[in-house]
Amino acid sequence: MLSSDPIAGVTIDVARRRLVLPDGTRAPFTWLRDRCPCGECRHASGQRLYDPATMPPDLNILDAVLDASDHLTVTWSENNHRSTYRLESLRAAPAPARTAPTLWDAATVVAPVAQYDDITRHPAAMAEWLAGIDRLGFGMLRRVPVADGEVARVAELFGHVRVTNYGRFFDVRSIAEPSNLANTSLGLAAHTDNPYRDPVPSLQLLHCLQSSISGGENLLVDGFQVAAEVRAALPAGFALLSSRPVSFAYLDDTTELRASAPLVELLPDGSVRAVRCNSRSMQPSALPHDDLQADDLTAWYDAYLLFTRLLTEPRLQYRLRLDPGDLFIVDNRRVLHGRTAFAASTAASVGTRHLQGCYADIDGLRSTHAVLGRARDGER
Ligand SMILES: [Zn+2]
Repeated sequence: MLSSDPIAGVTIDVARRRLVLPDGTRAPFTWLRDRCPCGECRHASGQRLYDPATMPPDLNILDAVLDASDHLTVTWSENNHRSTYRLESLRAAPAPARTAPTLWDAATVVAPVAQYDDITRHPAAMAEWLAGIDRLGFGMLRRVPVADGEVARVAELFGHVRVTNYGRFFDVRSIAEPSNLANTSLGLAAHTDNPYRDPVPSLQLLHCLQSSISGGENLLVDGFQVAAEVRAALPAGFALLSSRPVSFAYLDDTTELRASAPLVELLPDGSVRAVRCNSRSMQPSALPHDDLQADDLTAWYDAYLLFTRLLTEPRLQYRLRLDPGDLFIVDNRRVLHGRTAFAASTAASVGTRHLQGCYADIDGLRSTHAVLGRARDGER
């Protein structure tokens, strides 16, 4: 029931505590009061000064007027406070927190590849590279200076290094010895790093300093694509995979890290927020006590095993060979990385592969991308 006549196209619905705007949209009193743009309620920085805890529970509107230039002026029962809104501003949706991910497989992906000199000299090249990383979950950088710790300096070109118990950066060395070939040719299944941390580092960078071993390609897999395929093939198993927490742990003499989360984390809208998959640090689940628990664990495993099998499918694996000066970056909550086995039993398998890695977080990357875009669009 509408309690008052339309005032210049605006109707106050006191019973339901909302304003009905001329285009039929509804503005709840509380929502409208909270977003008052006046100088008393909102600082010039855009941050809110108004404390919502002070809003009276019986907040009411005394008067609402829409003028010819689409400015809505509301007089509140709260101290006769007056708020004037541009109608346009009430319709504006908040900017999305992340770029919509574009899922990919090996056949369709166009890797975001940039040259170190380009992104360090040209903001537009940096912006384009960062946009690709945000959309696809990985990127390549070539001709990076071959220097100790350079990987951390690259992270600082667009963000902030996440220092961990492994340090600011860490070494990954593979040494091929002809006398012990069995230990030199190991592949590494695609995985996400450090699932035992809370929060997980959201970016990982790996920089190649030396590569004298033939063979041994890196491979990247889009975990969001894999999650979509598991969801389509085994909906019930996927529901368990995305709701049942799994524990991960890392222990050494001075460190004990544990975290627990579902293998696939979903956003409230059902889209995938993050995947974590690392068989080396995953802890066993508790032993089921009854048939229902056992059925759930069996279905969970079916979905988990499908997930891991999909990671091995060549059609989903983007392969790249890292030469000295090459660097790749992955969104560690989305893109899994691994490596193929090195060539074994040949003279060519003698040599050293030396990479350095570091962690960073994607908020810094997105911030840099947004600020570069702001400069380009002439915003703010
Ligand atoms: Zn105000």
